[in-house]
Amino acid sequence: MPIDAKRPYEEGNIFARVLRGELPNKTVLETEHSLAFHDISPLAPIHVLVIPKGPYVSWDDFAAKASDAEIVDFVRAVGEVARMTGANAQGYRLLSNVGKRSGQEVPHLHVHVFGGAPLGPMLAR
Ligand code: 5GP
Repeated sequence: MPIDAKRPYEEGNIFARVLRGELPNKTVLETEHSLAFHDISPLAPIHVLVIPKGPYVSWDDFAAKASDAEIVDFVRAVGEVARMTGANAQGYRLLSNVGKRSGQEVPHLHVHVFGGAPLGPMLAR
């Protein structure tokens, strides 16, 4: 069920549990401030989630509250994942859902990295 991204950060969300090591993940990249892992239910041949390690619900929450070091690390991690997975070879898509209208299900900021196949139109009409 999509979440309201304006609500406070919830320590029990799935990605917080991944970060605490309570749930397994298939790690692609770990940096000082970020973690990237394969989506459990991939929608493309390459489907990796990149998350900051800090407690941020959404992109705007992160942009407002994160340190410069966290932001630099996260942006670089997304680019590194695109290179490491080969998604950059023929093109890829970055997506971050925020709040109910976008269908965000996990209330911890994540960027989806999709690639490995033609990805179709940006949005269904
Ligand atoms: P959202 O809809 O919030 O943008 O995306 C949430 C994503 O998290 C979905 O693509 C979903 O498949 C993925 N996901 C949900 N639970 C887990 C999990 O426990 N492990 C992993 N690796 N991905 C998950």
